[in-house]
Amino acid sequence: MSSQLHTFITTEEVQTKVQELAIQISKDYNQTQLHLVGVLKGSFIFLADLARALKIPCSIYFVHASSYGDRQTSSGIVKIQHSLNMSNKHVLIIEDILDTGLTLSSIIKEFDKQQPASLKVCAFLNKPERRQADIEADYTGFTIPNEFVVGYGLDYGELYRNLPYIARLENAEESS
Ligand code: 5GP
Repeated sequence: MSSQLHTFITTEEVQTKVQELAIQISKDYNQTQLHLVGVLKGSFIFLADLARALKIPCSIYFVHASSYGDRQTSSGIVKIQHSLNMSNKHVLIIEDILDTGLTLSSIIKEFDKQQPASLKVCAFLNKPERRQADIEADYTGFTIPNEFVVGYGLDYGELYRNLPYIARLENAEESS
């Protein structure tokens, strides 16, 4: 059986939400220099759109985190790769989706050691039903039910990241 994409959040809704988040973040940080840290690979498109919509000075970094292979189940083991020093900086971690929360809690633990001036999280999507770590984002785009989604940076087997919208992927197991 071939996999099927079903639009879940349209391109227009995605872009409207990014603008809303950028307005709120720009207001909250009020000209403070912000250090955006994108979690690779999924956040790269969201971060690119959000950064261009922000009205405050910001620098951009990435960390690589992997808890998923190319399938839908999390291994529960999160590997973080970075060589950043965030001490005394205002850091905003940018995530594609907050699911179990294991990735973010590992990254936060890592950055907390460096004593940043502030550390917050902006997740484009939030799937609270699957949460395992006690963590919430400070800024959230959309809260969604427990469904596997692709697009706007999110992949299935490295495909679909380039879709400008979010879609549900049906029969994903058979598609790889
Ligand atoms: P965590 O479970 O640690 O919160 O999320 C880890 C990563 O799993 C996310 O950054 C994202 O890359 C991936 N992930 C979680 N839920 C989904 C989903 O519905 N679709 C896709 N494509 N990736 C997901």
